[in-house]
Amino acid sequence: MKRTFLLLFLAVLPAGIVFNQTIKSPDEYLGYELGSTFTYHHQVTGYFRYVADNSPNADYLVYGHSYEGRELGVCFISSPENLKNLEEIRKANLARTGLSGEKVTGTQIPIIWMSYNVHGNESVGVEAALKTLYTLAENKYEGADDWLKSCIIIIDPCSNPDGRERYTAMYRNLQPSIPNPDPNSWERSSGWGGSRSNHYFFDLNRDWAWQTQIETRHRIDLYNKFMPHVHADFHEMGSSSNFFFAPGADPWHDIITPWQRDFHKLMGKANADLFDDKFRLYFTKESFDLFCPSFGDTWPLFNGAMGFTFEQGGGGGAGVSVKREIGDTLTLAHRIDGHFMASMATIKVSYDNRAKLLEGFNKYFETAATNPRFEYKSIIIKGSSETSSVKSLLYLLDRSQIKYSYAGNSGKKVKGFDYALNAEADLTLEKGDILISAFQPQGHLVEVLFEPDSKASDSLSYDLTAWALPYVYNLKAYAVKEKIEASGEKVEFNKPVINITEEKPYAYLVNWKGFDEMRFLAELFKRDVRIRSAVKTFTVGTDKYERGSLIIARGDNTHIPSSFDKLGREAAEVAGAKLMTASTGMVDAGKDFGSGYSNARKAPKIVLLGGEGTSAGSVGELWYFFENELKYPVTIINASSFASADMSGYDVLILTSGNYTRYKDPVMAFLQKGGKVLALESSSSLFSAEKTTALGKAVDLKAAELKAKEKKERSDDPELLKKFEDERRHALSERSPGAIYKVKLDYTHPYTFGMGQDWFVMMRSSGLPYLSSGSNIGYITTSEPVSGFAGYKYKEKIKNTLVIGSERVGGGEVVYISDNPYFRAFWKSGRILLGNIVLK
Ligand SMILES: [Zn+2]
Repeated sequence: MKRTFLLLFLAVLPAGIVFNQTIKSPDEYLGYELGSTFTYHHQVTGYFRYVADNSPNADYLVYGHSYEGRELGVCFISSPENLKNLEEIRKANLARTGLSGEKVTGTQIPIIWMSYNVHGNESVGVEAALKTLYTLAENKYEGADDWLKSCIIIIDPCSNPDGRERYTAMYRNLQPSIPNPDPNSWERSSGWGGSRSNHYFFDLNRDWAWQTQIETRHRIDLYNKFMPHVHADFHEMGSSSNFFFAPGADPWHDIITPWQRDFHKLMGKANADLFDDKFRLYFTKESFDLFCPSFGDTWPLFNGAMGFTFEQGGGGGAGVSVKREIGDTLTLAHRIDGHFMASMATIKVSYDNRAKLLEGFNKYFETAATNPRFEYKSIIIKGSSETSSVKSLLYLLDRSQIKYSYAGNSGKKVKGFDYALNAEADLTLEKGDILISAFQPQGHLVEVLFEPDSKASDSLSYDLTAWALPYVYNLKAYAVKEKIEASGEKVEFNKPVINITEEKPYAYLVNWKGFDEMRFLAELFKRDVRIRSAVKTFTVGTDKYERGSLIIARGDNTHIPSSFDKLGREAAEVAGAKLMTASTGMVDAGKDFGSGYSNARKAPKIVLLGGEGTSAGSVGELWYFFENELKYPVTIINASSFASADMSGYDVLILTSGNYTRYKDPVMAFLQKGGKVLALESSSSLFSAEKTTALGKAVDLKAAELKAKEKKERSDDPELLKKFEDERRHALSERSPGAIYKVKLDYTHPYTFGMGQDWFVMMRSSGLPYLSSGSNIGYITTSEPVSGFAGYKYKEKIKNTLVIGSERVGGGEVVYISDNPYFRAFWKSGRILLGNIVLK
């Protein structure tokens, strides 16, 4: 009898079910010994279903599917009574957070969630989850009976089934029948793109806070329904490493509470006890910090839970066995045991400290709602901010359970921190401004996501050092110290978009404001509607239209006389762009619609290079951008067949981060024929190596200047006497590990239309030199980032560098962007820039 339940919390046991006395172990079920190979995803979900069907202590829930259609599922493990009351237990917990708005009733018991294999090639995860599930469901492990009576345990065997299956399929294709521990043996090598990431080559352990990927969104939907008290995330590192468990390394985000810190120590001690017993090596307090909210440990911590990362030494290269430098052979079975022990320790510590665990969790939300520690009590997003960006922000807030409303106190003058200005400024509250109050259950998360500069105990971080959302979305926003009242009116941002005053207008108009309008343009291209865009601003009646605004003239569309009106309106609805009309081609100010200043737009054919030499993560982001955001066709050509591809029908070629030296000839040939190349991040080095390009000349000039300067400084540079143990920290002085800089824009350039005069970018490179010929479109004029950490030497270099530029090469054009404008697909303000370049 199946007890699998699908997205409905119906755990009522049908009468008359008799469970088997024993359940098959993974070995018996799979027909091979756990650790002798890697288990396919369908076998994993099969076993999870099997256990749920045959044990009174387990229920299985499918919570979604991956991009490639693989099942995302969890088992709930507990006593039969608790499983029967799962829905009540869930509600009792949610009510105590204040997030559900329901009255506090029922008993709250610890919910312990363990996720495995978020990185596909950290391949022990699934295997360890199988052993953990069996052990708990069988209820024979010491203490397990008490655990099941008092806790709900959730096991997600595979948070990234597409990546994990890519690993398993490749490994098993090449697996020798007699295990070969030789690290050079071919079954352990991965092809282009590897298998760490998901379908779009995204690192799902960098996506918790941003929720750009479907696997993350499904997981967080379920997470939000339960709000667990503990989340443990099981990973692997290189095979020469041993094992990492809590406490986490510095920096710790300032918001992590004393009790969360104490619990990290308790977790460390419990793991150490188990590992010491078996004389296994491990380390703590190193490498894996607790700062940036995008991870499977920090996101739970910032949601009131205890978040942990466990790292077993091994990974994809370790296969089922690998010889290590120290002389031993690391087996998959040994790795399974490592994560199995950490899983048991996680449950034991949570059970042993259950009263304090719940108390600390409840207090986390209660403190936020009644007395938030954030120095800014109110975040104001100006209602005049660009619509598509506001909609994207509100979508993320909804998904993060952060409440917002329209601001009250209309007309009131207050002081606040102006994000764009990066300084204190005056602000008048207006109708339509959005208020995000710190006084709410998720007040701590509001602080993490909106504080202008995130506070860390150390600058040496594993990942980003800044992410304040107003920069991510490029919004006009203020952080205000006083508590501003809500207006009580419901926020409505998806208003009807079509404002048509006549049935057969001379032209339809769309004011070029942001990404919704970009999507509209893409929709029109797909519908074969002919479009112009205005190079200058113009006015019709009282409406002023920005540069780039679209003119869809009846006179241009004589090829579709009967469907013209319908197609335009449909596209506007699909894209959410506001459609206006004009009854004449003569404007009230500016250039008329038939002028040479209204450029005809043509649907471009776009190529993105993927494969050897290109960065899979960057290719994946662009692939995702075209399929899921712009919704416009792109052809991804494998770089290895690029030289022989007929490029004559294409208009735009995108090179993401990567090394393209070997593809220089076909790229140059494409430019000679008049094509446009968008060179992102490191791909610009293909052009800076050319002495004939403006970029090449500028790079040479800058290098000569720096060399001269370096000679002068070198003899008394104290850096030269740095100690060996400080080398890593000193290397930071040259870097920006992810600080946010303001970019000044040439707002008259078509590539910046719809972006305003300033933009913000996550800088990780050192920028590009200004071009003496061509266009310097976006540049940094200050040393200081608006948010995040940048080394002092980096700051000296970054002032007066180029972020966006273009030049003519051959008969075509190259556009450079020094850094990733659409960073990990959460940097939404970069969408309009990308669209302006590729659709122009
Ligand atoms: Zn990992």
